[in-house]
Amino acid sequence: MNIKLINKEFSKNRLSVYLEFNISHNFHFIPGQFVLINYKWITRAYSIASTLENLKNHKIGFYIKKVSKNWLSKKLVEDIQIWEKIKISSAMWSLIVDYAYDNYLFVSTWTWLAPFIPIIEELQKENKNITLVHWEKNLDYIPSTVIHKLHSFQEKHKIYLALSETNKTHIQDYIPSKIPQNTALYLCGNSNMVKDITNKLSNKVSKVFYEQY
Ligand SMILES: Cc1cc2nc3c(=O)[nH]c(=O)nc-3n(C[C@H](O)[C@H](O)[C@H](O)COP(=O)(O)OP(=O)(O)OC[C@H]3O[C@@H](n4cnc5c(N)ncnc54)[C@H](O)[C@@H]3O)c2cc1C
Repeated sequence: MNIKLINKEFSKNRLSVYLEFNISHNFHFIPGQFVLINYKWITRAYSIASTLENLKNHKIGFYIKKVSKNWLSKKLVEDIQIWEKIKISSAMWSLIVDYAYDNYLFVSTWTWLAPFIPIIEELQKENKNITLVHWEKNLDYIPSTVIHKLHSFQEKHKIYLALSETNKTHIQDYIPSKIPQNTALYLCGNSNMVKDITNKLSNKVSKVFYEQY
């Protein structure tokens, strides 16, 4: 399916973007899923960072960080212009939202936060108890749409931003020491972080869901 870029929002340091596209009513996704994006003959996977509410308004969004000099993340952060089209696949399985738990602990780094945005949005409709620990180098990497989302979650839930440059801390320092019973742990980040946190918490939580790339 071809979709058209309607909004491109840079982070302060211009190394990441929130891209918003118009999308037809035929498209469906489940929070936590990703799509394959094809642009300028390159294809990569990107998690859907927008919510089902956004989809009702025919919008879909992605939170993308530039990690290469010439490949797709560079083109999507620096080159793509408003009204340009990209091709996306159908939404694919990745993390699943399991509503069976009372408490949810989300832990993410960098743009790995993306799939948690629509998941948290859905879980908060069910009045679940949600904690998110998110690591970034500093706030200059986060586009303001994503910052606003975090602020809106903060009104009801516990949101901890671990900023390495300012606080010189590890993400582990923000993990609550007391984990309530019946907690699902969702991890999304690089494999070291996923391994470390799983080792630390797997015997304290009811289930671990993770995605790493
Ligand atoms: C299921 C899935 C969902 C994804 N969702 C997102 C997303 O929401 N936002 C996003 O920015 N990327 C996401 N990615 C990564 C994305 O698919 C690309 O790999 C990334 O944009 C780099 O592509 P590239 O063509 O620029 O460079 P490549 O040549 O493909 O990769 C360059 C290097 O960057 C590393 N890398 C890839 N992603 C990151 C990252 N986020 N942080 C640090 N290093 C990285 C790769 O391991 C590789 O070593 C996702 C990947 C998968 C598998």
